Amino acid sequence: MASIRTGNGFDLVLAYLPPRRALQTLQEASENLRSLYLWLSGLRSFEVLGRFKKLEALVVFDWPAPDLKPLAELKRLRKLRILHLPNVRDLAPLSRLRRLQELELASLPSWDASGKRLVFRTLAPLGSLKTLRRLSLFGVSALDGRLDVLATATSLRPFGDMNSFSLAAIAALSALRPDLRPKVTWTSPDLRCKRCGGPQVHLMGLRGTRRKAWLCRDCNAERIAAHTAEFKRLIAEKLCRRRSR
Ligand SMILES: [Zn+2]
Repeated sequence: MASIRTGNGFDLVLAYLPPRRALQTLQEASENLRSLYLWLSGLRSFEVLGRFKKLEALVVFDWPAPDLKPLAELKRLRKLRILHLPNVRDLAPLSRLRRLQELELASLPSWDASGKRLVFRTLAPLGSLKTLRRLSLFGVSALDGRLDVLATATSLRPFGDMNSFSLAAIAALSALRPDLRPKVTWTSPDLRCKRCGGPQVHLMGLRGTRRKAWLCRDCNAERIAAHTAEFKRLIAEKLCRRRSR
């Protein structure tokens, strides 16, 4: 199903191409491209993207390269979406994207089922993005375990993706930026309770504990309420500690 086309709202769409053909197409494409959609292009290196200095929107599914350096040159990027970047650890190149408004970094849905995560060193580079409004991090974790480094992204709006940060890390962000309304429960649109048919709720922040992360909204209402109460207690504790400093 190899294809090269325009449309789909993008100036250029490359999907399911053999890597050599994808590379050649990108080498020959106009440098004036505003938007590019790369879907399973087979590319292992993305240096060629440096040509497209006017790019405003970029979608890539499958980024096997070990770093994001080629993106640092794309200073006009407003929207960036990368699905599956399993070898990237360092998000620093993204801190150069001073116009970025929307960012999505996501692992494969199948990874989520198997408990695998994208592991970045830290999310701190995203905290310097003053124009960033929408952030979606699905199946992402950070070695420093910190979410509060996002507090300095002043334009950021509330976000509530399922993530694998600890309850304390989510509370630390909430204490600094209550306007972001970080959530600690996530209601699945499809999973249902086998007993009552009620929706399944995922409790965030339980990684590394033995507690069950998936509960029924109705059968386990008390345990879900206790989780939320624990979260609120942690936020209050952080606020209290800050005031007494
Ligand atoms: Zn139930």
